[in-house]
Amino acid sequence: MSDVNPRRSMVEAIARYSVPAGKINYTINSIKEVFGEHVFNEEEQRARLPKTVFKALQKTIKAGEEVDPAIADAVAVAMKDWALEHGATHFTHWFQPMTGLTAEKHDSFIVPTAEGGAVAEFSGKELVRGEPDASSFPSGGLRATFEARGYTAWDPSSPAFILDNPNGATLVIPTMFISWTGDALDKKTPLLRSMDSLSKQALRLLRLFGNTTAKRVFTTIGAEQEYFLIDKLFYYARPDLLNCGRTLFGARPPKGQELEDQYFGSIPDRVLAIMAEMEFELMRLGVPIKTRHNEVAPSQYEIAPIYETSNLATDHQMLVMEMLKKVANRYGMVCLLHEKPFAGINGSGKHNNWSMATDDGENLLNPGDTPHANAQFLVFCSAVCRAVYKYAGLLRLSVSGAANDHRLGANEAPPAILSVFLGRQLIDIFEQLEKGDAKRSKTGGNIEVGVSMLPKLPRDAGDRNRTSPFAFTGNKFEFRAVGSSQSIGGPNTVLNTIVAESIDYIAARLEKALDGLAQDKKDAALNKALQKLLPELVKEFKPILFEGDNYSSQWHEEAEKRGLPNLKTSVDAIPLATSKQAVELFTKYKVYSVRELHSRQEILLENYNKAINIEAQTASVIANTMILPACLKYQADLAKAISSAKEVGVNSVQTAALLKDLVAAIDVFRKLAIAMDKAIEGQPHGDALEHAKYQRDTLLPAMAELRKVGDKLELMVSDEYWPLPTYREMLFIR
Ligand code: ADP
Ligand code: MG
Repeated sequence: MSDVNPRRSMVEAIARYSVPAGKINYTINSIKEVFGEHVFNEEEQRARLPKTVFKALQKTIKAGEEVDPAIADAVAVAMKDWALEHGATHFTHWFQPMTGLTAEKHDSFIVPTAEGGAVAEFSGKELVRGEPDASSFPSGGLRATFEARGYTAWDPSSPAFILDNPNGATLVIPTMFISWTGDALDKKTPLLRSMDSLSKQALRLLRLFGNTTAKRVFTTIGAEQEYFLIDKLFYYARPDLLNCGRTLFGARPPKGQELEDQYFGSIPDRVLAIMAEMEFELMRLGVPIKTRHNEVAPSQYEIAPIYETSNLATDHQMLVMEMLKKVANRYGMVCLLHEKPFAGINGSGKHNNWSMATDDGENLLNPGDTPHANAQFLVFCSAVCRAVYKYAGLLRLSVSGAANDHRLGANEAPPAILSVFLGRQLIDIFEQLEKGDAKRSKTGGNIEVGVSMLPKLPRDAGDRNRTSPFAFTGNKFEFRAVGSSQSIGGPNTVLNTIVAESIDYIAARLEKALDGLAQDKKDAALNKALQKLLPELVKEFKPILFEGDNYSSQWHEEAEKRGLPNLKTSVDAIPLATSKQAVELFTKYKVYSVRELHSRQEILLENYNKAINIEAQTASVIANTMILPACLKYQADLAKAISSAKEVGVNSVQTAALLKDLVAAIDVFRKLAIAMDKAIEGQPHGDALEHAKYQRDTLLPAMAELRKVGDKLELMVSDEYWPLPTYREMLFIR
C-alpha cells in the first residue's frame, strides 16, 4: 500500500498538466464557413431539394404546419446524401424523454443488396417516424395503461445535423416522442403545442392592432447557462459528485468567493481552451454562442447564445449541455451542471431570456417608437405580468426538482416566491395607468393609451435588479429561477401557455368592445377600450410587481401579506401539476392532457424521491467507508502519540484534550450515520407524494446533520488521511 495520500498525487498530476496544442484555426476555417457547416439548414435544403419540395418544407417550418408525407422521400434522400458527404454512417432520431436528457438510437444507412453487396439507403418513412424501444423511459404511468411502445416523429422545424465522434459521424434528426395513444412522452411535444397556442392568441391581439401581415408569432429564448469545471481526478475520487452531481460533504475553504476576484476575471488557459473548442463544435451545429465569462464562484463560468425561436433554442440548449460535458472531458475536466455542487458558494442557474416576435421580425416586448406601438407593447407586457401573477405557482412548479431546491432562496438565487421586476419607469407608467385618469408620468410624458408617447425606457444594465426571479430587461423578460441542469422545455411550455391564456383573456375583452363597429371607428374604440382595460389589469397583477431586494427577509413577509405563494420546496410545488387550475389551463390550450399532467406529476415526484435516496445512500457510503475509517486511523495515531509520550514521562494536557474532542466528534458522527441509515431504511413505499414529504422532512435533514459533523471532522483530522478531495483543492487547483 502506498503511504502517500492519493490526493497528493492528484495535485501533482494536475500541476504537470499542460493544455494540448489547439486543433482549431480560424485563419484557415473562417467563422463564416464554420457556422452551421454541420446543419442541414435552409441553404443546404435550397441547394439540394427540388424547388417544390423545398417550398413545401419551408412552409411547414415557417408556418408550423404538419409535414406533407409526399415530400418525405425527397427530403430523406437529400439529407442522406448530404450526411454521407460529411462522413456519416448512421442516422438517429433524437428526442427529449422525460428524463430531462436527450436520447438517441443509431441505425446504419447500410442496406444489403440481393447481390450480396450493400447500398446506403434512407427512406421518407425512416425520416418521418421511428420506433425506439421506449419501455425504459419514464412515462409516469402513461404506458402502463396503454400501448407499451412509443414512436418518434420528425420535427422539421428543428433542422437535422451531424454529430462527429472520433471514429465517424451520425446524422441526427430532432423528433418528438409520442405514445401510440397520442400522449406526449417528451418535453418537446408540449413545447411545440404551447408555441402554437401562444401564436394563435397573439395573432388575434395583433389583428386588433391592425397587423394584417404577421402569420405566426414565435416565442424567442436566449438561455444563459452557468456551470462549474473541476479536474476529473478530483471528480472520480468523490463518490458524491460521481453519483449525485453535488458534494454531500466538504468543509468551507478558507477562501471562497468573498474577495469577489472571480467574476469576469481572466479565464485560465485550460478552461479557455475548453470554451473555445466547445464553441467551435457548437458553431458547426449552428448554435449561435455569443458570450463566455467567469461567474461569481471559483471555477464557475457562463456561456450564452444569441436568442432563437423556443423550439430551436431548446434543442440547442440540450446540445450546449452535452457539448460542455463532452469537451471538458477531452481536457481532463468535468463539467458540473448541478444547481448546487458546492455548499456555501453560489450555485448555478439558467437565465431564460424570453420574448415574443412576429414572423416579420417585430419583437412584441419592444416598447417601440409610436403611441400605437407603445399601446401594443403595454398590452403584451401586461399580459405577461398578469400571467406570472395568476400562475406563479405553475411557474415555480416548472423549475422544481431536488437539485434546484438547494439553490432557490439560498442568498444568491431568487427565492421560490415569484415576482416581476419592471424597472422604475415602467412601474411608474403602470401606476399612472392604474389611477385611470392620470395623464402625466414622472418624466413628463402623456400616457393616454394609443395616443401619447411613452417616455423612453432605459435599456442599460444600471436599472437592473439582479435579485428578481422574473425581470423585464428592456425588450424581453428574464426568468432566472430555472436550474442549470434543467431542460428549458418545461419552463417555457408553462410560460408560453400562461401568457397565451392572458392574451386570450385580453383579446376577448377587446374584441367585445370593437364588435360590430365600422372599420373607421375601430382605432378610437380600441384606445378607449384599452384606457379602461389596462387599469383593470394593473390592479389585478400589481401584487406581483416588486422592485426591492428579493433576497431579503422583509420581502418574504411582504410577499405573504400580498398573498403570493411561497412554495419553498419542490414537494410543495409538484402537486400543482394536477391542480384544478393546471388542468383547466393546459387542457383548454391543448398543451397537456389530464393524463399527461398526471404522468408529469408522477415523474417529478419519482425523480425527487430517487435523487434523495441516491444521495442518502451515497452519504452513507462516504460516511461509513471513507470518513469514519480515516478518523479512526487518526484517532489511533493520536492515542499512540499520547501513550508513547507518557512512556518517556511527558504528559500533554492539550493533546489528551484533542483526543477527547476527536473521539467525541467521531462518536456523534457515528450516531448520526446510524440514524441516517435508519432513515434510509424507513422510506415509505407506495404513495409518491408521501414518500417525497418523507425525503424532505426526514431524510434530507438527517443528511444535513451528518454532514455538519463530517465537515467538522475534516478540519480536525490529519490532512494526510482525509480521503476526499477538499473544497480548497477542487475549486482552486486547475
Ligand atoms: P443582458 O445584458 O440583458 O443579459 P444580452 O443582450 O447580453 O443582455 O442578452 C442576454 C441573453 O438574452 C442573450 O442570450 C440574448 O440573446 C438574449 N436575448 C436578447 N434579446 C432577446 C429576445 N428578444 N428574446 C429572447 N432572448 C433575447
Ligand atoms: Mg442576464
